[in-house]
Amino acid sequence: MARRTLIAGNWKMNLTVAEAQPLVAALKARTAAMAGVDVAVCPPFTSLAAVVAATAGTPIQVGAQNVHWEQAGAFTGEVSAAMLREVGVTCVIIGHSERRQYFGETDATVNARLRAALGSGLMPIVCIGETLRQRDAGETEAVVRGQVAEGLAGLTPEQLGRSVIAYEPVWAIGTGRTATPEQAQEVHRFLRGLLRDAFGGVAEEVRILYGGSMKPGNAASLLAQADIDGGLIGGASLKAEDFLGIIAGA
Ligand code: PEP
Repeated sequence: MARRTLIAGNWKMNLTVAEAQPLVAALKARTAAMAGVDVAVCPPFTSLAAVVAATAGTPIQVGAQNVHWEQAGAFTGEVSAAMLREVGVTCVIIGHSERRQYFGETDATVNARLRAALGSGLMPIVCIGETLRQRDAGETEAVVRGQVAEGLAGLTPEQLGRSVIAYEPVWAIGTGRTATPEQAQEVHRFLRGLLRDAFGGVAEEVRILYGGSMKPGNAASLLAQADIDGGLIGGASLKAEDFLGIIAGA
């Protein structure tokens, strides 16, 4: 089964509602360029409703950057899956390395958030990837194996089939240093093998995105790899021309 390419923009803590308007307008003007590709943008929580409204009737999906595992309650500062669904959000990034690095996210919390997202019908984009120290120590496969085993623990094959994985080598995020297409493909192929071993044939349907300094200039060669099914884009998703250039590369 052919996997449909997904290009998702992670705006991180950038763009107010007002600042997002020109970017969304520029993307809306070029939806014809998105034919055959799934496109999502993931603004900060405060801009979600406005971006959902602005993209209504277009193929652009809107995602959040995090979700809590409980449905409601005394969890100051957190947002539930039902709250995201209510404003029209369809997908959510889970376990981004910045969440792991700065906010104590672990594979166990990733797993809890993932279950909540799936339970509410959100499409999760689960981030995994090794640090530079881990890569240099030859630990890349062991690290992603552990993240997959614990982060995806207890999922059914059907639930995995509704999930997206993003391989984001931490050393390539926001650094301008991109994994070569061959380096990325090697890990993506390994990852798909892990998914096949754990979940069976549905692994062939799961989209595995690459993330880490993807730009218009390197997108096509990364996306041409057999097991790279799209991109999770940080910095380059904040400029319409760059984001559209990556979509064109797909
Ligand atoms: C990201 O934040 O997921 C990311 C890949 O960032 P960048 O494209 O800026 O490296």
